[in-house]
Amino acid sequence: MEKNKVVIVRYCEIHLKGKNRGYFERVFMNNMEKALHGIRHEIRRPSGRYLVENFDESRTDEIVERLRRVFGTHTLSVGYKVPAEMGAIWDAVLAVAPQSGTFKVQSNRADKHFPLHSMQLNAEVGGRLLAERPQLRVDVHAPQNTVNIDIREDGEALVFCDLVKGAGGMPVGTSGKGLLLLSGGIDSPVAGHMIAKRGMTISGLHFHSYPYTNMQAREKVEDLARILARYTGGLELYVVRVTHIQEAIHKHCPEEMMVTLLRRFMMRIAEHQAEACGAQCIITGESLGQVASQTIEGMTSSNAVVRTMPVLRPLVGFDKTEIVARAREIGTFETSILPYEDCCTVFLPKHPLIRPDLRKVELAESHLDIDALLEEAYASLETVSIR
Ligand code: ATP
Ligand code: MG
Repeated sequence: MEKNKVVIVRYCEIHLKGKNRGYFERVFMNNMEKALHGIRHEIRRPSGRYLVENFDESRTDEIVERLRRVFGTHTLSVGYKVPAEMGAIWDAVLAVAPQSGTFKVQSNRADKHFPLHSMQLNAEVGGRLLAERPQLRVDVHAPQNTVNIDIREDGEALVFCDLVKGAGGMPVGTSGKGLLLLSGGIDSPVAGHMIAKRGMTISGLHFHSYPYTNMQAREKVEDLARILARYTGGLELYVVRVTHIQEAIHKHCPEEMMVTLLRRFMMRIAEHQAEACGAQCIITGESLGQVASQTIEGMTSSNAVVRTMPVLRPLVGFDKTEIVARAREIGTFETSILPYEDCCTVFLPKHPLIRPDLRKVELAESHLDIDALLEEAYASLETVSIR
């Protein structure tokens, strides 16, 4: 009797999009295909969900792991596709049902030709399971496991048990494009993940101060980008050197303004690069009041140089503990806490300005040849394609 292993993928939110539904579903399908690159498979879309089939069964876990990170995925189940007749269904039930604990059977009969209606099928399969596995007990209200049987219109049935939670959100590629300022810290990868989850395509921009910062710091950022890329289906990482800018600020401007002024340069470079790569906004990992440079005055000062696009700060209202929890969940935390220096720690003043006054900041900056410093930074740009 033929019993084919399948992965069932259910998507979220996409159904909310009315007329655009077809478009959202195509993007989602495409993103799943990308995520499964290198694994033989077929994806089909019989009504309301996706079926991954014809893959090497030894790679089932890997397929689930990859697909659960694709934004738009609500839940996944591993199960079997069998001919819609009792012998084959029972065979599949034995393969997915637990050995012990509480369970119920939940059947769904789209094909009304099937001789038993759902209640009868529930009772029949439930009864057989109880007889076959004495350690099982029925609990129809709060079972530990639900054995699902879907009798479909095409003469096939799907039999599955566990639901795995997917990443949620909307398919990447359906909400425009943003440039994420990606440091090696805890916050910015989480910020990028949050915005990508809303369907936005992300590119990353990282600033380094080589030789004050080292190659390990750079590799750490590439590792973080790689973790993000598992959710976004790859991303471009731009890397720009700002050493000369920090040296110029250090030499010509008040010490306590280092961070404030550097932030303004970062924002200028970000806007320039966003325009160059077709991004429509800048994304940062700032959270209100977390450190001296993240006061509302600090944000005002850095925001003031961005002319043509919004700066998204998805973490602005988050506590550090909430951000850390999210970082652990998405798998970036362990990499983020590796101890390499970030460029912001170079020439770090003892008493950074906490509430910078925009006019004083602009005055301090007037001692610098801003355009020349920017040109040198743009010239240092490197692009790393993270897949
Ligand atoms: P993170 O954990 O993201 O590093 P943080 O709490 O250390 O944040 P800051 O160092 O003040 O805070 O940085 C605030 C934001 O500025 C970061 O979240 C990031 O978006 C951006 N940023 C800081 N340093 C860099 C860098 N070297 N390259 C790119 N972006 C940076
Ligand atoms: Mg940081």
